[in-house]
Amino acid sequence: MAGATGDLVPVTPAPRIPVRDRTSRLLGQFPVRRIYCVGRNFADHAREMGATAPASKAERGTPVFFMKPADAVVVDGTVPYPPGTTDLQHEVELVVALGRDAPAGVLDAADAMSLVFGYAIGLDLTRRDLQAAAKAKGLPWDTGKGFDHSAPVSALLPIAEAGDIGHARIALQVNGDTRQQGDLGDLIWNVADILHELSKLYALRAGDLVFMGTPAGVAPLRPGDHYRATLGALLQLDGHIVPAAV
Ligand code: MN
Repeated sequence: MAGATGDLVPVTPAPRIPVRDRTSRLLGQFPVRRIYCVGRNFADHAREMGATAPASKAERGTPVFFMKPADAVVVDGTVPYPPGTTDLQHEVELVVALGRDAPAGVLDAADAMSLVFGYAIGLDLTRRDLQAAAKAKGLPWDTGKGFDHSAPVSALLPIAEAGDIGHARIALQVNGDTRQQGDLGDLIWNVADILHELSKLYALRAGDLVFMGTPAGVAPLRPGDHYRATLGALLQLDGHIVPAAV
């Protein structure tokens, strides 16, 4: 045998998100490396989950982080109802995509935006019953958060095309009814803050996504539901929940 160095199992390619300009022209693809998520980043959602929201920036402590596997990304909007739950819930969120590796060490918040490639709107889908059971026992959230098809996202819009989204609105409709809406100006930690905090814990790299946290109004999704997530007039994700694959 000439060198036993070959891959012995198939290599799964990185999931890819289409990148489009403001006229929806396809510019290329964004290969996903990691998915970081922020919990409790809107005060109204923190309160609806039974947590106390910080009264001021000085009292905000440190953000709650968790992760999803990269291949949880869904780009066509179609989500099979996941196994192991009877309470799949939506969380509409701004998604930040990194186009550059962070330098070694802690990233200064003032430099953080230079890493940002673009934005998407997405859903942090949650098996709320499993998350609640884990929380009650002080156990990790992984089975509640990091499952197959748990990260539907829109196309990515390059940051230069998006302009200033500091006070853009994110919203979610289900079957035509508005379920969630929030102003990105109300984020407890903004994008630069979050990248700064993440860099204390992880080496941020090109291909990373960050789900920035959801406003109030999280609620169940059921097979047959149609959802529409929007970031102002810039981005829209349409999708639906289909019966579990058997
Ligand atoms: Mn979330």
